[in-house]
Amino acid sequence: MPALLPDPISRAIESFGRLPGIGPKTAQRLAFHLLRQPREVAEALARAVVDLKDQILECSTCFNLGATDPCGICTDGARDRTAICVVEAPLDVIALEKLGSYRGLYHVLHGSFSPMDGILEDDLRIADLVRRVRAGGINEVIVATNATVEGEATANLVRTRLQSFDGVRATRLAQGLPIGSDIEYADDYTLTRALQNRTRL
Ligand SMILES: [Zn+2]
Repeated sequence: MPALLPDPISRAIESFGRLPGIGPKTAQRLAFHLLRQPREVAEALARAVVDLKDQILECSTCFNLGATDPCGICTDGARDRTAICVVEAPLDVIALEKLGSYRGLYHVLHGSFSPMDGILEDDLRIADLVRRVRAGGINEVIVATNATVEGEATANLVRTRLQSFDGVRATRLAQGLPIGSDIEYADDYTLTRALQNRTRL
């Protein structure tokens, strides 16, 4: 089917089709929809995509995404530099920051341990976390991975890797987050409680 279409249309359909959750039908619909839009709409989309790649940096300390490296949180002198909160994704940082009650640092793993899906320890930023802890000055590592099977497996892996560091307390967000839930979607009350009542990992 795409072979019968003019090349720019098939390329657009192919590109949309590579996005998560977009099947061939939706990819076609998006391409034809954009074709009918004014040029400004297409240009704004194209620019937003390119800016995403050009202007967003990964912090080389905590691996959160931002406009600078190191990021604003890592360079904020008012934050508690003895605590690191470990999360799966940048959106989890936003969810926790919205609460306003956590003033420590973060570490973004960029995924969760899931061998079934081919995501292994080396695909996550666990070795970088160990390096940060080894550098010293950290008293507590709060593991705030999702309340899913993968999130629990990740928490266990992090605990194992941090076991040898005396004086570093590994804690886990309290249960109370619904099983199978993502931190990103937890309501503020539940997340605040889970943070306050964190338990030793
Ligand atoms: Zn950072």
